[in-house]
Amino acid sequence: MERTSTPAQTAERTDEAAALADFLENFRLLCSVPHPSGHEKALCNLLQAWAGGHGFAVRRNAADDLLFDVPATPGLEHLPLAALQAHLDMVCIAREGTPFDPLADPVVPVLDAEAGVLTASGTSLGADDGAGVALTMSIAKGLMPHGPLRILWTTDEEAGMTGAEAVTADDLAGVKYLLNIDSEESDTVIVSSAAAALVVATTAPRMEPPAGDSALAVTLSGLRGGHSGMEIGAGRCNAIIALARALAEMRKTIPFALASFTGGTADNAIPAKAAAQITLAAKDRAAAAAFLADMERTLRSRYGDREPALALATEETPLPPAVFAQPQADAILAYVTESMDGVHTMSPDAEGLVESSSNLGLIAAGPDGVEIRQMPRSSVAARLEEIETRQLALGAGCGLAVAVEEKSCPWPVKPGSRLVAAIAGAYRRVNGTPMKVSAIHAGLECGAFAALSADLDIASIGPDILGAHSPGETLLLPSVAKTWRLLETLLPSLG
Ligand SMILES: [Zn+2]
Repeated sequence: MERTSTPAQTAERTDEAAALADFLENFRLLCSVPHPSGHEKALCNLLQAWAGGHGFAVRRNAADDLLFDVPATPGLEHLPLAALQAHLDMVCIAREGTPFDPLADPVVPVLDAEAGVLTASGTSLGADDGAGVALTMSIAKGLMPHGPLRILWTTDEEAGMTGAEAVTADDLAGVKYLLNIDSEESDTVIVSSAAAALVVATTAPRMEPPAGDSALAVTLSGLRGGHSGMEIGAGRCNAIIALARALAEMRKTIPFALASFTGGTADNAIPAKAAAQITLAAKDRAAAAAFLADMERTLRSRYGDREPALALATEETPLPPAVFAQPQADAILAYVTESMDGVHTMSPDAEGLVESSSNLGLIAAGPDGVEIRQMPRSSVAARLEEIETRQLALGAGCGLAVAVEEKSCPWPVKPGSRLVAAIAGAYRRVNGTPMKVSAIHAGLECGAFAALSADLDIASIGPDILGAHSPGETLLLPSVAKTWRLLETLLPSLG
C-alpha cells in the first residue's frame, strides 16, 4: 500500500502546520464537487477514486456509503480496530441575493489565515461534516500514527440518515471503537443521543351549529419556542398545552363551544403560538375576557424570565358556521392537557442530561379534521415506548385514534466506556484541562451504529463549527489543529 508520508512510530507530535495544510487541501477537494444531502454520488465517485489512488480497497454500498481499511502504523498493529466515521453530505444554504445552485455550483471556501477561520463565499461551508471527512483523509494518508482503522463515510445524514441506516453489522465486524467526527465543539465529547418517534392522534370532527351568539379568538403568543430536543429541558411554555389548559379551566365556570384549535410550526419545535376560536353567549364575553386576562397574569408569573413576551389575547370575531360537539371538544382538550409533554426522565448516567422527553408540537383541529402531533425522544428505547404506550392509552380514553409513525435509533450512554475515558484522558494530556462529557437530546448517526452492536464503544468529537446550516457557517482552524492533536494522542493509545 502506498503512503504519502512516513508516519511517526510514537505518539510524538506530528508536523501540525503540514497536517493543517493537508486538511485544507482535502477540504478544498470536497468543496469542488456539489454534495447536498441526497446528491452525494459525484463526491462519492471522487472519494472512491481518491481512496483507490491511495491504495485502499474501497467498498461502496447501495446508499453510496464508502468504507475502507487503513493498516496500522508499523508497531501499532496490536491495537484493536477503530472506525473513524464522518458524513459526506452537507446542508447547502445561500445568502439572500447570492445566485447559487446547490446541485451545480461548487462551494467556494474563503480562508482568512490571520483570523484562523474558514468560511464560504455567500453559502454554507459544509464543514459539517466536510471537516470530519477531510480529517479522516489526512489520517488515512498516514499523517499521524494509529492502530488498524476502518474509515466510514456515510451519506444523507442531514436529511434522513439513510446512509447510516444502510451500514450493516458486517460493515462494522471486528470494530471495537467507533469515533464519529461530526460534533461541533472541540472541547466536548458526545456520549449519547436520542431516538425520536412521531405520535399522531386523529379523529373525524363531529361539528354542530354554534352555541351562543358571539365568538372570540383566543391567542397565546410571544413564547420562545425552540428545538424540541435541545431545549426541551429549559422549562419553556408549550403554547398549545398552556392554551388548552386555560380553556379547560375556563370551561368549569363559563360555558363555551370550541370551533377550532391550531398551533405550532413543526414536530420538532416547541410551539411558540396557539390560537383557538370559541363561541359563547354575549353576556359571558366580559367574564371570559376577564378570566383569560387573569390566566395571562398567572402564566406570566409562572414562567417569568423564561417567557418574557408571553401574551394571552382575546378578540371578537364573526360567529363561525360550526363548532365541535361538546364531548368531542372536551376530548380534544383532555388529550392535549393530559399528554406527556416536556421532560419525562433525566439520565441516571449523565448529570443534567434529559434522557426522555416529549414535545406536543402541532395541533390542527377544525371542521376539516383533527390532528395532534407529538415527538417523543429518548436515548433509551424502553423510555420511548413508555411515552408511546401512555399516549396510546390516553388516546383510547379520549376516543382519538393514535398512531406511532416513525422511529430512529437511540444511542444510550455506555457506562464505563473505554473510548470516552481514552478521549478524555488524551484531551487532558494535550490541553491540560478536562474535556466536557456531554450527551445530546437529539438524533445522531451513532444511534444507527449502536443498534448494530451493544458492544460497540462509540463517541463523537469534532472541531468548532459556528453557524452550521447557515450562510455564515464558520470553521475555526485552531480547533482543527486542536482536534488533530487530540486524535494523534488518542489513536496510538487506544488499547
Ligand atoms: Zn453533521
